[in-house]
Amino acid sequence: MRKADDAIVGPTGRVGMRFHKAESAFFVFIAVILAAAGVIFYAYLKLHAVTNPQIAASSIATIARLLFATGVLLATALFFGAFFIYPLIRTQAREEGKLREMTASLSARSETLEQAALTDGLTGMHNRRYFDDALKQYLAEFAKISKPVGLMVLDLDHFKQVNDTHGHDVGDEVLRVVAGCLKDMTRYHDVSARLGGEEFAVLVPNMDHDQLMKFAERIRKAIASMPILSGNVRLKITTSVGLAVWDGRESAEEFYRRADKQLYHAKRAGRNQVSA
Ligand code: GH3
Ligand code: MG
Ligand code: MG
Repeated sequence: MRKADDAIVGPTGRVGMRFHKAESAFFVFIAVILAAAGVIFYAYLKLHAVTNPQIAASSIATIARLLFATGVLLATALFFGAFFIYPLIRTQAREEGKLREMTASLSARSETLEQAALTDGLTGMHNRRYFDDALKQYLAEFAKISKPVGLMVLDLDHFKQVNDTHGHDVGDEVLRVVAGCLKDMTRYHDVSARLGGEEFAVLVPNMDHDQLMKFAERIRKAIASMPILSGNVRLKITTSVGLAVWDGRESAEEFYRRADKQLYHAKRAGRNQVSA
C-alpha cells in the first residue's frame, strides 16, 4: 500500500502530493477554525472602535454580521468534524484493529509451524533439526566460559526385534515411554531429542566426565527397569549409550561423531551399557 501523503509522479511527469481523505477533511476543518478565529479577531478590533461614539452604530451592525459569520464557520467545522473526520477515524481504527488481528493470527500460525518443524511427531520431543541447532548454539556459548558440555547418544538395543515380535504399535509405544523417561530424568537446561528411529541424544551442560558417566548410568538403568507391557507380556528394553565431553575445540559434527563412536563401542561390547 502506498503511503497517502507520498509525493507521486503523475502521467504528465509532474510531481504532486496526494492526501488521504482523512487528511483533506482535517485540513478543511483547520482552515474553517482558522477562518473563524480570524473573524473573531476582526470583530474584536471592531469592538475596540465602538468606544468612539461616531462610528458606534455602523460598527455594531458589522460586529453582529461577523459574529454570525463566526457561528456559520464553527457550525461548518462541527459538521466536518462529525460527518467526515470522525467516521474516517473510526473506519481507520477498525481497519487497523482487523489488520492487527490478522497479523497476530498469522504470526501465531507461523510459530506453530516453526514449532512443528522442530518437534518429533511421535514422541513430542525435539527433533534432529532442533538438536543440531541447539548443539551448535551451546558450543558457541560454552566456548566463552570454562564449563564442560557433555553429550549422550542413546540407541535402543535390538529394537527391530521388538517390532518384529510385538508389532509396530508396541514399538511406537516403547519409543514414547523412553522419551518420557528421558524427559523425567533430565534437567531443564539439558536438551534431549529423538534424532530418528530408536536413537536419542541428550546435551548436558555443566557436567564433568564423572558426573556425566553417573548420569548416563542412571538413565540406562531407568530404561532397563521400565515396565512396558504388550498384552500380558512384560517387555525388557535396554539401551546402549555413547558419551563425550566437549574438548573446547572440535566442531559440533566432530563432537557428535566422537559420542557416536562410543555408542558403537557400547554395542560392540555387548549392549545395555555406557561407553565413554
Ligand atoms: P541394535 O541393537 O544394533 O541397535 O539393533 P536394532 O534392532 O535396534 O537396530 P536396527 O537399526 O537393526 O533396527 C532399528 C529398528 O527401529 C528398525 C525399525 O523398524 C525401527 N524403527 C525405526 N523408527 C521407528 C518408529 O518410528 N517406530 C517403530 N515402531 N519402529 C521404528
Ligand atoms: Mg538400535
Ligand atoms: Mg539405531
